[in-house]
Amino acid sequence: MDCLFCKIIEGTIPSKKAYEDDLVLSFYDIDPKAPFHVLIIPKQHIDSAAKITPENSSIVAHIFEVAAKLAKEHDLKDGFRIVTNCGEQGGQTVNHLHFHMLAGRNLGWPPG
Ligand code: AMP
Repeated sequence: MDCLFCKIIEGTIPSKKAYEDDLVLSFYDIDPKAPFHVLIIPKQHIDSAAKITPENSSIVAHIFEVAAKLAKEHDLKDGFRIVTNCGEQGGQTVNHLHFHMLAGRNLGWPPG
């Protein structure tokens, strides 16, 4: 499958790793939108949040556990934001489920 994030998981495209286990990979976004900006992705290819089912939804809970671990490791005590863009109007550009974790500045609301 021609998927950029699957290639990052395989290691054929390099990334700066923040966390890895059997189920997920976290790496630094190549175009950071905040001083701390990592992506957390499942190793299993899932297109987007629209493809979450009872069979695969446990990965989402695991991703949030990893986010809490990263927040502790990186001392993000002033807060952070987790975002998943889904589909064209949601601003998704890579069709492999990913959660942006952003921190280190005041983040605007609502998003543009
Ligand atoms: P989205 O637009 O929500 O689909 O997010 C895709 C994200 O992937 C964007 O923030 C990009 O900057 C990021 N990105 C694209 N290519 C790479 C790469 N090779 N390494 C790290 N991040 C990437």
